[in-house]
Order: sequence, then C-alpha cells, then structure tokens
Amino acid sequence: MLPTFDGHNDLLLRLHKDPANRETIWLTGEGRGHLDLPRMRKGGFAAGFFAIYIPSPVSHDSQDYMAAMENPPFALPLPALITAEEALPTAMSMARQLLWMERASQGGFKICTTAAQIRACMAQGVIAGIMHMEGAEAIDETLDNLYAFHAMGLRSLGPVWSRPTIFGHGVPFAFPASPDTGEGLTAKGRDLIRACNDLGVMIDLSHLNEKGFNDVAKLSTAPLVATHSNAHAVTPSSRNLTDRQLHMIRDTGGMVGLNFATSFLRRDGKQGADMGWEDVLAHLDHLLAILGEDHLGFGSDFDGAELPQGIGDVTGLPALQQAMVDHGYGEGLMRKLTSENWLALLDRTWKA
Ligand code: ZN
Repeated sequence: MLPTFDGHNDLLLRLHKDPANRETIWLTGEGRGHLDLPRMRKGGFAAGFFAIYIPSPVSHDSQDYMAAMENPPFALPLPALITAEEALPTAMSMARQLLWMERASQGGFKICTTAAQIRACMAQGVIAGIMHMEGAEAIDETLDNLYAFHAMGLRSLGPVWSRPTIFGHGVPFAFPASPDTGEGLTAKGRDLIRACNDLGVMIDLSHLNEKGFNDVAKLSTAPLVATHSNAHAVTPSSRNLTDRQLHMIRDTGGMVGLNFATSFLRRDGKQGADMGWEDVLAHLDHLLAILGEDHLGFGSDFDGAELPQGIGDVTGLPALQQAMVDHGYGEGLMRKLTSENWLALLDRTWKA
C-alpha cells in the first residue's frame, strides 16, 4: 500500500456540527463518517486538503435532494448567497477545529504550509493537513479576511462552492448537464484571484462553472487545479470537467483530483454505493489519456459524499489501489497518482 495524498475532504464540517464529541470523532473514531485518526493511519492517508465549508440553511444533503440524486435526471436549485458577516463565525469555527486537531493529535497530525513540511511529515509518519476553503463566503470584499486566514495557515481556496458568492458563480448539481451554466467571476472575483496569486494560495476550480473556469484561466499565473472533479466525457455531470477543460489544466501544469462521490463516478449519474470498479477505472483511464501521468491524483470527498461500496471509508484506499494495479497501472504511475503529483503541483504553486 502506498501512502495517499488526498485533494479534498469535509471532516471539519463533522467536527463543527458536533464539537462536544470532537475527541471521539477525531481521536478514537465514532464508527461513522469516513475519516478519523486511527482509520486514516490504517488506510494510509498521508496528507490532504481539509475544507472549511459554510453549510446552507437548507442543506444540499437534505432528503429531497438525496432522493433526486438517486433518480437522474435531476437539476437541483442552488441556495442563495451567504454574506461574509454571516459566514465568518462558521469559517472561524472550522479553522479552529483544524488547529485543535493538530494539538489533540500530540504529534500525529500537522498543519503544513510548504511542500517541504508535507514531505517531512510523510517521511516521519505524521499525517499532513492543508487548510482549504471551499467557497469564499467568509472572505469580505476588502479581502482582509483572506489575509487573516492566510496567516492562520490557509493555502488553498475555491472562489465558490456552487452557491454564488460576491466573487463568482458555481455549477448547480445536475445530471446530465453541461458545466456552462451562467456568468463567471465578478470584478471582485478577479481581485480575489490576483490576491491568491500574490499570496501563493492555490485556487481550486472544482465548483466553478465553465465561464468562471475560463476567467480564472485567463487571469491566474498559477497552474489550474480542480481538487475533486471527474471526467464529463464519462459521467456528464455539471460538476465534472469537459475534455477542453482537462486540456487547459494539462497545458498549465495543473492537477485534477479524482472525486469518489458515486454521482460523479457512475455513468448513469446516480448517487448510490452499489457499483464496482469499472466506472472508477473508466474515469482514471480517460483523465490519464488527456492529462498524462503527471497531472492526476485523488480528491476523495471523504465525509462529503456517498462513496462506492468498494471504498466505503478511508480504510478502502488500499482496495482502490489494488483495483488500479490489477487494471495494469505500474509502480511508477501508482506513486505519481497516490502522492507525487500533488506534491509536485504544490512545488509549482505555493511560495515556500
Ligand atoms: Zn465539493
């Protein structure tokens, strides 16, 4: 089993929702969800992006939405914009949970802001965490909060999580559907991209619509990255990347993290764990065919999505690796996909 560098998870949301239980959730494991320290060690989870995400008043994992996603075609409406004033306490809570995770782990988990720190953690068996913001709701229009979160350790940010922000517009969850769903970045969004470039904060395109993606591509000086998205040619979900977008990512030396969410993996677009490896491997093959070997990794969506039964939770990472090896992926390629490509991307993106 190779150690895995993962592009996206939502563990901080679980801690934010149930802070009284955080020791059980993080340190001992509550037997629910996808991530906790013991299971991450068992599954070979070595490093990953931990998302700060502002939940909507009506959650996108409500029963109505879940029922729709289990019965494609579907097109879910997007929640309304949340202001920075409303979002900041929640974002601060999740940042605090990440900082607590480091303290509570007593050396087992470390928040990293350089690729060298992550490599050192991986060499020592310490799990490395990166502070990521999925949707820039908590960033105010002066961008002062961006600098504050950067000082707290933020090194990755998506201008939107699907719902609109003052910075841009995201894709509604729909299948089958194009990612070309509306307007792109706002003028403030362009300021945000420039500031992220200046700070060396990685910009995540995963929830942006196609116009927003193009706007970032035109403006950003950094490689283009989609931390948790799949191939639209295999599963035509609004959240997946078209071949044109994949070519653009490759041409900038960027990166795609394979999302394990069943609704973005299954060819039928359905949310449901009852699937084998075939569709997972079809995405990997397609992404490799366009991106080449150096621009693909994992972006699990652990604790943020329903996963294939063969993965289940973080302890399923070795089974996924075995399926890839059985499919014919060699040792060198496996090393790139499991961690080396993400590390090299951070070398190209972050300022040390
Ligand atoms: Zn997401």
